Amino acid sequence: MVDEEFKKIKRNTYNDNLTREERQSLERLRNLNDVIIKPADKGGNIIVWPREMYEAEARRQLRDNTCYKKLSFNPLISFKNSLEIILERAEADSTISLELHRALSVSHPKIPTLYLLPKVHKHPTRPPGRPIISDVTLTRDQEGFIQTNVYRKPTATNTYLHATSAHPKHMKDAVPVGQYLRIRRICSTDTMFEKQARTLQKRFKERGYSQRCLKKAYRRARETPRQQLLQKKPPRISDDSIRYISDYNAHWEEMRRAIEKHLPILKTDSVLRHYVPDRLQMTARRARNLKHILVKSEYVSSTPNLFNLGTIKNGCFPCGKCVACPNIVRSTDFSDSGGQKTFKIRHHITCESKAVVYYAYCPCPKIYIGLTTRPLKVRVREHMRDIRQAATRVHVEELKPIARHFLSEYECDPNLLKVKGIDQVNLGIRGGDIPKILAQCESKWIWRLHTLQPLGLNEIQPFAPFL
Ligand SMILES: [Zn+2]
Ligand SMILES: [Zn+2]
Repeated sequence: MVDEEFKKIKRNTYNDNLTREERQSLERLRNLNDVIIKPADKGGNIIVWPREMYEAEARRQLRDNTCYKKLSFNPLISFKNSLEIILERAEADSTISLELHRALSVSHPKIPTLYLLPKVHKHPTRPPGRPIISDVTLTRDQEGFIQTNVYRKPTATNTYLHATSAHPKHMKDAVPVGQYLRIRRICSTDTMFEKQARTLQKRFKERGYSQRCLKKAYRRARETPRQQLLQKKPPRISDDSIRYISDYNAHWEEMRRAIEKHLPILKTDSVLRHYVPDRLQMTARRARNLKHILVKSEYVSSTPNLFNLGTIKNGCFPCGKCVACPNIVRSTDFSDSGGQKTFKIRHHITCESKAVVYYAYCPCPKIYIGLTTRPLKVRVREHMRDIRQAATRVHVEELKPIARHFLSEYECDPNLLKVKGIDQVNLGIRGGDIPKILAQCESKWIWRLHTLQPLGLNEIQPFAPFL
């Protein structure tokens, strides 16, 4: 019902603060091959770095064999195992609790990537790079201690969130408050604070903030004793109430009204009513800004992608040489139950493809959505075997949904089952939790294609992969 209300919200009332041309140029800039776009190491600017310069700087740093060593194998699994041994020992001698052990264990480790942030404050045209491993900033200070967070000095450029940008009002109001409190904390004397506050006010005005909003933030900082700001904040106590978390957009308030209108329905459930809040808590993720759109942390090689050249086509393709081929359909698209909507297959999937979400259907046609981490042909053969064996099973309720349907409708003829691979999870060399992402993908297609019984053949809508 909420979904229906969302659909009614008029999209054309949305005022985009970028023109269509600006959006298109952004997309072109994002896909440019001869430049690397990175945030500056200090100051929050975005730097466009010529690819040869970036690569030369990266090679220069990686050649330093006091810091880096070329590996002949992927140590991911052995690191994972060593960590597990350390954690087990620590738990055994009660250095850490079972909970901490669980929290520190990594079941699906990822290979971090190295990238460089240009130090334009050191040299504006030939900047050296600060090496960053994925999202952790590690620096060693003068005494040799490792610091995880670098103090960023305020620099000349004015990059505060603009007052007219598409963010929730409370978030924009919080920007000056945070900055005034920050200078209050840093400045050791009131005179220094007043001086910094005047500069800050000027910069916020340039970004469109109202005098009223700035005055409020300034007063709050002035009235807060510095000593209090220097103390560590007590951890926020989290409440157990349910939140709605989404990307912020211009329809935020309309969405809130739509959800709140139907919230009382959940209150009628004897179990759920204890968990459903009276008023909905909505939490907005930060909306994407130019930096999010343009900066990629992963290094993308400049060799052209085969997919872009059109040599490898998207779609599902039988390999032509395996026993599952007759059941696998050559296709570039697929439809929902009822055939209202059609979707394009955005991967190149064959009988051999792994980590695939597939679409199996009978002549009715009723659709079943499934997933496999093994080659698609292996899973298809299993379905065929299940159908063939269905007739010999005594207890019908033990049968899988497809086999049961073929028993009642098609005299267990497995040749009537058709399968298309429709989606694939490809995380590249860095790895990650493929089974979880695949299960989320499967759940998404069950929902979007309406394949739950009785319309389709799926028995459940899986929610667990999202938890
Ligand atoms: Zn095949
Ligand atoms: Zn059927």
